[in-house]
Amino acid sequence: MNLGHHILNETTGRLESTSTECSFCRGGDASQKSMHYYKALFREQKRTNVIVYRNVKFAKIAVGIPRCKKCKEVHESANSFTMIMILASTVIFFVIGFVIFPLLGFVTGFLGFLFPFAFREKIEDLRAEQAIHTLTKTEGVKKDPLITDMRLNGWTLNQPMA
Ligand SMILES: [Zn+2]
Repeated sequence: MNLGHHILNETTGRLESTSTECSFCRGGDASQKSMHYYKALFREQKRTNVIVYRNVKFAKIAVGIPRCKKCKEVHESANSFTMIMILASTVIFFVIGFVIFPLLGFVTGFLGFLFPFAFREKIEDLRAEQAIHTLTKTEGVKKDPLITDMRLNGWTLNQPMA
């Protein structure tokens, strides 16, 4: 597998990008690796195309996508916004249920948590899209050449079921 502009950092066990151009806004300064977005990829059990480095086979590895400070801030504020939405929804629906019948509050509160939680990535993306100049984390992951190549070779974005 061609790792392109990525190198394995033995200390962190991550595939870090050596590119200094932000992939999210196309042009921002991404020379600081700590600003990069790291997406974990998983290898399906049956596939054999694994990343082997000094006899260590990786079944899960984080891939760095070059990102500038500004884009990191946009992504983080979108993430905070999503967390607040989940919390607010839980509280509001708990109170509504509780007023009707105390025990019902736990059911409605749980549903109030579950719904935004299930769509947390969508909410985060919608929020990040408002910052126009940048790609959302999901889009950045989909457009990353190494991640695309790894997905074609049996790696997945979600942890495979047992
Ligand atoms: Zn950027």
